[in-house]
Amino acid sequence: MSLTPAAFWNALCLEHGGLSHAVLHEAGHAVMAVHLGIAFVDVSISRDPRDNKSDVGRLTGGGVQMASPEDVEELVKRDLVGSFQFLVAGALAEYGAFKHCLDGSYRTDLNLWRNYAGLLEDQTDETLATALGQPLKDALKAAGALLESLSPAVTATARALGNDDYAPLTYAEVCDLVEQAR
Ligand SMILES: [Zn+2]
Repeated sequence: MSLTPAAFWNALCLEHGGLSHAVLHEAGHAVMAVHLGIAFVDVSISRDPRDNKSDVGRLTGGGVQMASPEDVEELVKRDLVGSFQFLVAGALAEYGAFKHCLDGSYRTDLNLWRNYAGLLEDQTDETLATALGQPLKDALKAAGALLESLSPAVTATARALGNDDYAPLTYAEVCDLVEQAR
């Protein structure tokens, strides 16, 4: 039996519905990017996550599209802390609202950062702390506090992403939402 896209989305979290998680997750990334001055093309939600597998075959519920695929790697190499804040903001936005994340939501994004940061081997809390200049727990707490200060913008962006036609929001549109929420 195959589920409709809406039923599939709903099944990802029986309490909140997967789509509620996805719009917050992508809004977290997008608003943090705008706050940190990280330019992107657009941010969108997948109509059906099963149509949209990532390189590693994971389902993707949406994403922030950069101008070029190398942009994230360059960003991580240039700014370890800012890119960390950008990449964990998705899971932190879900956690802030619902006190839990969808499966893999945090781990997938953190692993992307780790891999680009060159922490392929020896991914212990100690090597992460060296790269971040502080313990992982503190870096997460700081990113969470920063995102919390942006929560009106995250809420507005999540609401806009939850539109009926799954239309992407451009960087300029997210900038406007962040500005209006100030
Ligand atoms: Zn949930």
